[in-house]
Amino acid sequence: MSFGDNFQQLSSHRALLHLQDAEIQLLESMKKCIDQRIKSDRQYASALTLVVSHAQKLDSGISNPLFQVWSNIVKETQNWIGLLRDHAEKLSFRTLERLNSLITEKKAARKFYLDEKLRLDAELRKVKDDVAKVKQDYEKNVTKHIQDRLKLEDLISKGVPPKKLEDARVRLTKSSLKLHRTHNNYVAALLEASEHERHYIKTVLPNLLNYQEEIEKLMVSQCKSILKDYADLTDFSTPEHIEIYKRIHDQASSLSPVTEYKVFVDQNKSDKLTSSNVEFDSQLLMGYNGTLKENQLALDTFTLEHIQQSCAKVTEQLQEYHQKVLSKESDLAVAQEQLNSVTSKEDINNYDIHKRTVLKLERELGELRCKKEVLKEVQDLYNKQLNRLGDRAPPAGVDLLENSSLPTSNYEGADAVAISDGARGQFKLNMVLHKLKKSGPVPPPPPEKDFIPNSSNGNDGEVKPPRTSLTNSSSHPPMGVMKSAALPACDSYQQVAVGQESRTLRQIGTNSGKKLDDEDWFHGVLPREEVQRLLVNDGDYLVRVSTNRKTGENQYVLSVMWKDHKHFIIQGQEGAWRFEAEQYPTIQELIFNQHNSGNHVTKKSGAILKNPVLRETWELKNDDILLGQKIGNGNFGDVFKGTYKPTNSEVAVKTCRETLSEDAKKKFLQEGRILKQYEHSNIVRFIGIAAHRHPVMIVMEYVPGGSLLNFLKKQGQHQSKKQLVKMCQGAAAGMAYLESHNCIHRDLAARNCLVGKKNIVKISDFGMSREEEEYTVSGGLKQIPIKWTAPEALNYGTYTSACDVWSFGVLMWEVFSFGQSPYPGLTNSQAREKVDDGYRMPCPDHMPEVIYRLTLKCWHQEARERPHFSEIDSELQRIHQSL
Ligand code: AMP
Repeated sequence: MSFGDNFQQLSSHRALLHLQDAEIQLLESMKKCIDQRIKSDRQYASALTLVVSHAQKLDSGISNPLFQVWSNIVKETQNWIGLLRDHAEKLSFRTLERLNSLITEKKAARKFYLDEKLRLDAELRKVKDDVAKVKQDYEKNVTKHIQDRLKLEDLISKGVPPKKLEDARVRLTKSSLKLHRTHNNYVAALLEASEHERHYIKTVLPNLLNYQEEIEKLMVSQCKSILKDYADLTDFSTPEHIEIYKRIHDQASSLSPVTEYKVFVDQNKSDKLTSSNVEFDSQLLMGYNGTLKENQLALDTFTLEHIQQSCAKVTEQLQEYHQKVLSKESDLAVAQEQLNSVTSKEDINNYDIHKRTVLKLERELGELRCKKEVLKEVQDLYNKQLNRLGDRAPPAGVDLLENSSLPTSNYEGADAVAISDGARGQFKLNMVLHKLKKSGPVPPPPPEKDFIPNSSNGNDGEVKPPRTSLTNSSSHPPMGVMKSAALPACDSYQQVAVGQESRTLRQIGTNSGKKLDDEDWFHGVLPREEVQRLLVNDGDYLVRVSTNRKTGENQYVLSVMWKDHKHFIIQGQEGAWRFEAEQYPTIQELIFNQHNSGNHVTKKSGAILKNPVLRETWELKNDDILLGQKIGNGNFGDVFKGTYKPTNSEVAVKTCRETLSEDAKKKFLQEGRILKQYEHSNIVRFIGIAAHRHPVMIVMEYVPGGSLLNFLKKQGQHQSKKQLVKMCQGAAAGMAYLESHNCIHRDLAARNCLVGKKNIVKISDFGMSREEEEYTVSGGLKQIPIKWTAPEALNYGTYTSACDVWSFGVLMWEVFSFGQSPYPGLTNSQAREKVDDGYRMPCPDHMPEVIYRLTLKCWHQEARERPHFSEIDSELQRIHQSL
């Protein structure tokens, strides 16, 4: 079955060559695959590094077993990463190298075989050609010899003179000589040719083929060892790997709920709480001269009825609690039985559910029993007194006789004012209390001049709303801001006693005639999603406008938090508004009455209005914004220069086209939501969102120099290198701020930066930004700025701040190329492919070498090798100083 015996014909020879070509191709492809595998293992290791660094950020200072276990699991993950990296290195420097030399050998072997085969075939052909030549001579010489012999015979028969005869005889002798020699040559050549061919077939060709076969086999065994190497280095089930996972499993198993808190308790234990001093204060009765006694119920003509009523009430409550305890006990018995019926503790889910139920019921039962005991004590107190009195008449309430001119109760009087002065007053009281409750300690009543309309912040020339979180929606403005913005515009204030405290409260009166637009709980066309962020606690509510999907008409909506977010369309028209019940002439009155009545908005929903959620300071009124000239096109609508009337300041206004889908409108506001939290001189400053009506607008500081891209194109050439470095450094400082706030911009480019006074660069356009440490795109990579985006984001959709660093590298390139488009002459996909293959744009003519080195670092293939923005910022500051 050897090559030597079976591959002698041309067809086999061709097949052999084809096989060799195919094998070389296979090895080349193997090489690419292993290369890819190395990359993917390295990326896996990098991704795991993120996992580890995320875990390591947590430092609670607690060393309970759970914390230790997790820390050890993280350490084992690091070991896993170490193995991954080590194996990837070996694959790269050992396996791949061996494969490379095998490919070279394979190519050389093929060449050798082909050359040898051609040489041997040529030799065989030559021997055969020689025979043919000798044969030709032979034919010629035989002919000549016959001719000479016939000539001599002819001359002899004619009897020619001896001289001529002699000549003819000499010629015949010569031709005979030649013929004999050629004959011998021919015979010898024939022998040589046949022997040559016999050896070629029998020995020489088979030897070559067999040699070739052996060489190929040797290379197969080399290949086998390479593949084994590959298998070893990509195997996740080696003893080392298994050991790591064994240790991880051991860590998890080592957790013991019983001992988890032992050390912690020892370290942090404190004495039991002692009862606070809730004793009768003897001082209270100093100077009092009646029948009341310390720690004793007074049972007299004043109190008999009250005690009887109280006793009856307590008895009723006790009964109620008794029932509750019984019902809880029976629930507990059922739950206990269910827990017992979970046969195997392995059924962890079921066991857990029932165990939790039992624990919860036990706790609730314990509390109910305590309440029952308390009530029992109080009941005993009343009963003891009543029993002691028996059927006798109670003694006279002596105090009454001596102090009959005293009024009943100041407290009730004050309360009565609040109630009797009308529903609107109560509603306002609630609203003010709500504001006060949300805004911390109560300040002394402010002088009237402090209360200015809510659109102004009282800070001349500067529009600077507080950076409250849009997501922490129900958080109302801090006190300082509330004074100027959140309290309603008002006429006068008075002091009213509420419980123990004194509160500032709007004069109770009739409807002030405010427009709905001016109500603090009216939020205009703020989209449902934003509104839902504002409604946090049950009873929180507000009114807004939405568009009816079918008719396209605007409708008023009451949004309420009641277990979840509920939205009620306010039925009716001008002059007659209602939910399910009574109708009112204005929406304000409908809401006031709904709030004050405490009735359900609709029976089905059960929702009750408790706390009006007031507009936040960033919610601006559209009427306060004067639009000027158009300065740009945004993704969602035009961008205008404008004036914010309350402060008469220049602003930039991004508008959102009304025709966009609800989804797009939400996305539009995403930018405002993110920008709102940031304040940095290198980040465009957010002023507010105007959503009283369409078009919804994001208002921000006006940055006079326009986009950095246009600036570079028009004025880049006239800037010194030092100035350009300064601009890059400004952008880096802004990005370092964002990075420290876990914000990934995702669209950093010169077109999305603005140039302010003194050429200060400000990061802008947060339309694609995300507040996450790592963000993975799920819906494909539509509308991705390919030439600015890092390879790992393009290939795997994974975004981190390191991706912004890559884009920053491109931004620096743009700065020093004066706004040229990156990767000139290449399409997006060509650029992407080249970058994947390791290509990086060359240093622009005007870019200092040291900046280019920094740029290349930003373009490091491995995201984790790229510098952080804080480092880039410092490096650029250093370079700037050195220029
Ligand atoms: P954007 O939607 O953020 O890309 O904005 C579109 C264009 O409007 C930008 O390229 C700028 O020319 C302009 N622009 C946006 N925001 C501002 C601003 N705050 N100040 C000045 N111009 C701006």
